[in-house]
Amino acid sequence: MKSLLLIFFLCFLLLYSCGKDSTQDPNVTVSAQSTDFLKSYYKTMNKFEVSVFYEDSADPYVGKRLNGKAYWDFFGSNIKELLRIEERGISFIYPKTLNEMKKVAKVDQKEWTSQQLVKRMNALSLKEHNQSDGVANIFFTNGFYKSEGEVKEGVLGIYIGGTNHIVIFKEAIKRIEQQSGLRVARFSEQSVLIHEIGHLVGLVNNGVPPVSDHHDQAHGAHCTNDKCVMYWLNEGSSDMAEFVRKYIITGDEGLFDSQCLEDAHSQMK
Ligand SMILES: [Zn+2]
Ligand SMILES: [Zn+2]
Repeated sequence: MKSLLLIFFLCFLLLYSCGKDSTQDPNVTVSAQSTDFLKSYYKTMNKFEVSVFYEDSADPYVGKRLNGKAYWDFFGSNIKELLRIEERGISFIYPKTLNEMKKVAKVDQKEWTSQQLVKRMNALSLKEHNQSDGVANIFFTNGFYKSEGEVKEGVLGIYIGGTNHIVIFKEAIKRIEQQSGLRVARFSEQSVLIHEIGHLVGLVNNGVPPVSDHHDQAHGAHCTNDKCVMYWLNEGSSDMAEFVRKYIITGDEGLFDSQCLEDAHSQMK
């Protein structure tokens, strides 16, 4: 049990390294989400489509969990709660199998800056986002993230500010698989996807003003609550071990805390 907790703890250390690079990276042209995107996600869309593209050999984990649910339903249930998909009568389309995702050719490049990733993603056959049809684009690449001239091999994912683009660095996720096993790696991949969607829809203070005091300004667009998926994890935090323990014991699938949910839900009024 102790070693299992440690494994989860280590993967979370990697998991939350995303935010620093996506929101504090001076090379990202716009750090916060734009009012146009926010308006569509929170007020006007009646369809929300998550498009997943993956490079050859950077394929996302798919399949079913022990409880019979698809891995991608973990993502789906958290996004449904965050955006009140069912209450708003939104048609929500997200993939659960590789057949529902698009495979693209592998490019021989190991390091990617956010500008290069935007260019690369814009060249994909992206669905048009507009006020009634909300779209989030997720791209799984083999390479690592590069920012300020430094390759950040611990970064699992980024949200590119002011766009509807999310990038997952599969090589970094595969390292978790090697070190901690498939189960932990799958959970990490789903969690980082949920975390990046949080940024995409303006959390925390990334376009959506917080309703309560929970913005961890020292760490970019993150939540001060160590029990929330939007938390920035400090190394050695005993609070995080507690979060993980709670997750394992309860099997609770809701990863956003009430403060982050309240921020999102306040936008729908
Ligand atoms: Zn983040
Ligand atoms: Zn939160």
